[in-house]
Amino acid sequence: MLRGARAFNTLCRRAGATRILRRTAPSSPRPVLPHPRSFASVAQTQTATPATATASESPLPEIKAADLPIVSSDAKQVAVGWDTRTWSRFHNIWLRDHCRCSRCFHSITKQRLLNTFQIPADIAPLKVSAKPEGLEVVWNTTDSHTSLYPWSWLEVNSYDPPLTRDANKTEKVLWGSKIQQAPPTVAYEEVMAGDAGLYKWLSNIDRFGFSFVSGVPPTPEATEELSERIGFIRETQYGRFWDFTSDLAKGDTAYTTIALGAHTDNTYFLFHLLEHTGGTGGATLLVDGFYAASILKELNPEAYRLLSEVPIPAHAAGEPTSFYRPTPASGYPVLGHDNLTRDLTQVRWNNDDRSVMSHLEAGSVEKW
Ligand SMILES: [Zn+2]
Repeated sequence: MLRGARAFNTLCRRAGATRILRRTAPSSPRPVLPHPRSFASVAQTQTATPATATASESPLPEIKAADLPIVSSDAKQVAVGWDTRTWSRFHNIWLRDHCRCSRCFHSITKQRLLNTFQIPADIAPLKVSAKPEGLEVVWNTTDSHTSLYPWSWLEVNSYDPPLTRDANKTEKVLWGSKIQQAPPTVAYEEVMAGDAGLYKWLSNIDRFGFSFVSGVPPTPEATEELSERIGFIRETQYGRFWDFTSDLAKGDTAYTTIALGAHTDNTYFLFHLLEHTGGTGGATLLVDGFYAASILKELNPEAYRLLSEVPIPAHAAGEPTSFYRPTPASGYPVLGHDNLTRDLTQVRWNNDDRSVMSHLEAGSVEKW
């Protein structure tokens, strides 16, 4: 599903294909819609520090035995006591499956090497010990396989109970129209000069869902180079990198002067917004779908639930030779949530590209 460039909503946080917008003809005016209020610009940056500790990392400075976690095991699980009140429990089969040794886990490719299905169902430790580098487990298998789990790795991956699930999350900033006064922006030179500038750009996208890059030279080459600071450019049905105008070169209203309302589609696009030379219209509209969703959840929880459950089929079919639709074809609900945390992670809103809603139950048509 792919749609016009005048209006888009930035919800998906990935890098991908690049679109270069070149307005050569005046197009219909599209005012930037105001939002009632904003609670932007209060959050502090939180640095994302993904858990990458592996057994191959350099050993920790010497730790006294008394400072080490307490460990114990039985036929089912290993318990790790972080302090007198905090314990994590790990099933034996889970630990064996997650062995970080070089025979079980490739330290460079980060892929599992062991055969999960050969682990005996009654696997249990012969011995567990707290070492300065981590939890050492000698298993009751014929080869007395020994595993070492770094303490930081166990803490980050503790599931009974989860200990640090929220620690590495960036705080999302919800925003309204006031963000116009100081939209998240990074200078082109800064992004191109080094990783600090790139980090600033990506952090903006992570926190706000979008970021401007100012002062990009108005050439396809510079735009493409900028895109590649994030990652490789993905091929789409529109090409890998392209510019367009209102000539209906593709069967999509993005190629017309018809004003487009707020919508999401391939939100990992990078747009190069070029100014008019003697024309009006073609303004870009940005809406924070997460902010809209947070208001809806407060004011109308039933509508929020409906939008979280009813899948929306969609299509792009403006070319005689092409037909694009989601997999599965029934599509996805407008509001997508993390399976584990139930946090809102995606807002898919594109009323124009929505297909026939032939799957609704009769009783929910009007509500929907
Ligand atoms: Zn191993």
